[in-house]
Amino acid sequence: MDQHEGTFPEIAPWASPVARARMAEVAAGLGGLWDRPSAAEVLATVRHLLREHTRQFDEEGIVLYAGTNVMSPAARQVAETTLGGRPSMGWPGEKYQAGLDWLDPLEVLVPALISRLVGARFAEVRSHSATMANLAVYTALTEPGDTIAVLPERAGGHTSHHTVGVPGVRGLRVVDLPYDTDAYDVDLAALPGFLERERPRLVVIGASLLLFPHRIAQIKEAVAQAGAVLMYDASHVAGLVAAGRFQRPLAEGADLLTFSTYKSFGGPPGGVIATDDEELAEKVSTAVFPALTANYDAGRLAPLAVTAAEIGEDGGAYADRCIAAARALAAALSEEGFTVAGADRGFTDSHHVAVDVAELGGGRAVMARLAEAGIYLSAIGLPWQRPGEADRGLRIGTQEVVRRGLGEEELRQVAALMADLLLRGADPATVRKAVVRIRKETGSA
Ligand SMILES: *Cc1c(COP(=O)(O)O)cnc(C)c1O
Repeated sequence: MDQHEGTFPEIAPWASPVARARMAEVAAGLGGLWDRPSAAEVLATVRHLLREHTRQFDEEGIVLYAGTNVMSPAARQVAETTLGGRPSMGWPGEKYQAGLDWLDPLEVLVPALISRLVGARFAEVRSHSATMANLAVYTALTEPGDTIAVLPERAGGHTSHHTVGVPGVRGLRVVDLPYDTDAYDVDLAALPGFLERERPRLVVIGASLLLFPHRIAQIKEAVAQAGAVLMYDASHVAGLVAAGRFQRPLAEGADLLTFSTYKSFGGPPGGVIATDDEELAEKVSTAVFPALTANYDAGRLAPLAVTAAEIGEDGGAYADRCIAAARALAAALSEEGFTVAGADRGFTDSHHVAVDVAELGGGRAVMARLAEAGIYLSAIGLPWQRPGEADRGLRIGTQEVVRRGLGEEELRQVAALMADLLLRGADPATVRKAVVRIRKETGSA
């Protein structure tokens, strides 16, 4: 007999009290299912959970969370569950495994499609995520103890750029780039002196909130003068970049481009590293395999191929709709009385919108209230927040609602519902009904 049988499964006793209370509540709801269940019982429960999860997000929710998307119907059609469990290690022609002849074409097609889209000679597509892609770059181009310079967290610098994330795994010293809050960009005047002092090996731009393009050419000039490499993390804006919108980081001067394939890009989860430089390409590719992956889940390649081809074929129409939707939503939120970032610059040049909700209780509290009404998004720090201050902002991305068929008119309704809930004291259950109605009445992909 298992000595733990029948005991309450405390999954993470080291987690916060709030998380532990939620996990205890969830465990109680599972009614002892972990205690030698039949496979049929688990199957029934899993089915129920998946159905409800799908209903909440895909059928009834208005998902404004910036770091997500739904794959197109065609991409979903080719998402095979069996491929991922058939490891493929090494280049076609010299693999560790035999019998992968029908996978070889996908392994050639996908990097070729993606490198063309983003304007690069090379694309490494085997990283499981952008976080792992970033770790591959750090592994390839830095030694433990080296310095990298990244955007501060309040400017959307991602965990995978900071010490708590993969730079810490590599033993890097991480310093914040000087930031110009008014420009929503690196402080160009302060940059050369900063680079002179800090001597980073690598400079990372691109962020989890990107309202306006980086001035890459000027940044690159300073970074090159300092003998460092410039990496642009386009995780959020990859769908726009691939469509030739927002900005073309490699053409404008970035040495390396990394991104997630499941956010605005709209494909399966995964990470890409692209570059024009063959020497960098070889280094990062070798860091991805054999250093950081064995089986890389080739199941991702089929939907990724279809997604990349669709982006190429639609000529930027989807990206344009995402940007137009973001501007319309931002303007509507502003008219409703919200404090929307970037007001003096037309709010946004991307599919992102940021709202300062410090006076409404801060990002986390407002996120929770909106979720009660079936509107899902996240909190985010804003460039003007004080050190140590809790996230002031809400971050919105339009990439999913556009796929779902919501147009500018529906987004104005969404802005009004957000104002009803947050500014006019409406009841979340009432707002939720209106949210579900918008989803039911709007065509969905
Ligand atoms: C979301 C995000 C990542 C992480 O992407 P994953 O694919 O989930 O690992 C990395 N960098 C930035 C800037 C991001 O916003």
